Amino acid sequence: MSRPVDEPRPVAAGPAGRPAPPDELSAAPDEFPGTIRRAFPNNDGVSVLAASAIDDPELRSGIRNLLRKPELRAELERVWATPPDADCPHPERVYRELGERGWLAPHWPRRYGGLAASAYATAVTAEELALHGVPDSVRVNTIDNAGATLLAAGSEEQRQRFCPGMAAGEIVFSVLYTEPHAGSDLGSMATTAEPAGDGWRLAGTKTWNARTAQAHFGVCAARVRGHGDNAYAATGLFVVPLDHPGVRVEPIATVNPERFFTVRLDDVVLPADALVGAPGQGWSLLSEALGMERTGVCFAGRARRWFDQLVAALHARGQLEEAERVHRLGALDAEIRSCRLLAWRAVQGLAEGRLNGAAAAAAKWWTSELAQRVAWLAFDLLGPAVHSDRHFPDLVLAAREAPGLTLAAGTSEIQLTTLATDLLDGGDPWEEPT
Ligand SMILES: Cc1cc2nc3c(=O)[nH]c(=O)nc-3n(C[C@H](O)[C@H](O)[C@H](O)COP(=O)(O)OP(=O)(O)OC[C@H]3O[C@@H](n4cnc5c(N)ncnc54)[C@H](O)[C@@H]3O)c2cc1C
Repeated sequence: MSRPVDEPRPVAAGPAGRPAPPDELSAAPDEFPGTIRRAFPNNDGVSVLAASAIDDPELRSGIRNLLRKPELRAELERVWATPPDADCPHPERVYRELGERGWLAPHWPRRYGGLAASAYATAVTAEELALHGVPDSVRVNTIDNAGATLLAAGSEEQRQRFCPGMAAGEIVFSVLYTEPHAGSDLGSMATTAEPAGDGWRLAGTKTWNARTAQAHFGVCAARVRGHGDNAYAATGLFVVPLDHPGVRVEPIATVNPERFFTVRLDDVVLPADALVGAPGQGWSLLSEALGMERTGVCFAGRARRWFDQLVAALHARGQLEEAERVHRLGALDAEIRSCRLLAWRAVQGLAEGRLNGAAAAAAKWWTSELAQRVAWLAFDLLGPAVHSDRHFPDLVLAAREAPGLTLAAGTSEIQLTTLATDLLDGGDPWEEPT
């Protein structure tokens, strides 16, 4: 049985069915304490998606139950306790347990480690990880990005070699697209791939590659020599083992909790089957692979988690009842609900193969901007004692992550340009099929 995705999450009940006092709620910090809901009862039950069979309640509750296991909870608590100047560790055990059950990539075919479910199921995984504060760049890069590329254009041998390990949480990919002088304008990338014997020689520098030190392989965009000057027509995607001779991985220090790297490719010689698909197919593959991230479902999940924890922390401090603050938070709660609906509408478009670029741009822009705003509001309202607030265990990570949300997967300015261009051309990003 499907359930509307925006059905209110259960509020922990106290004695005689009253909302639980904050201390009881703190055992389950991802549940909503109900204060805002009592102040704004009509906010409940937004169910625009009620008629669609797009949620997967079994998967959702399976993931929630799994993440309650004490050893996984302990691993996540170690992640959230990352000191402000340290890198946040990869929760490998959480990933492997999700992978064992086919939940990292549920929409993949069973022979590649998935459950043969729809794209909705993978969106449920993405949303649940965000709601539970599980660092997700390894999943996004490995499953949504490199995995989507391999499934779309890889040979059967490539898929067999990589996909089951990726879906199991054992093989990690890093995404090697951005360069020192090619970010938003990826078309000006300078990394080249030229034929060398039976294979390829790659040369160039990639940067802002997330979590590369944890990764085994990179999916690397390069201009394939002999395919013209137009980067869109000449881009190929290559699988690069990150311990290969000629590959140098160098850390970059930033405020972001997940470490970035620069990857130097000094005449890296790869076999012929390092290329995924055809030379020149890379641009469309990498654009398509950004689809799930641009639905904004992960950003909307972060906004919800951080907001609920902010409310719980203010409630515990007795700082919630002031009317002006309740109004402000109530308005933000409504915004987060509608941003979630927008994200799921984009997921629906993706699952039905009709998500256009402008709709994805709108969803990515709004959800990431909103999550960023919530993180910074929380940091402002909770003040310098944030490190020790048990009601908001990952507030410091949230504040460190916030600046990157509106840059990763296409900056806000680029999303707005895409959206505005479509609207000025008379497009309707959300046009329904007739
Ligand atoms: C959290 C995070 C994770 C990332 N992970 C990866 C990864 O794993 N692999 C990878 O390859 N890359 C990754 N990146 C890099 C990311 O893709 C780039 O940061 C992004 O594409 C922007 O490129 P840039 O940093 O070169 O900025 P630039 O493109 O130089 O942009 C700088 C500023 O100028 C603005 N701007 C640029 N062009 C225009 C324009 N035409 N109109 C208006 N404004 C414009 C931008 O919006 C931005 O504010 C990650 C980035 C972040 C923040």
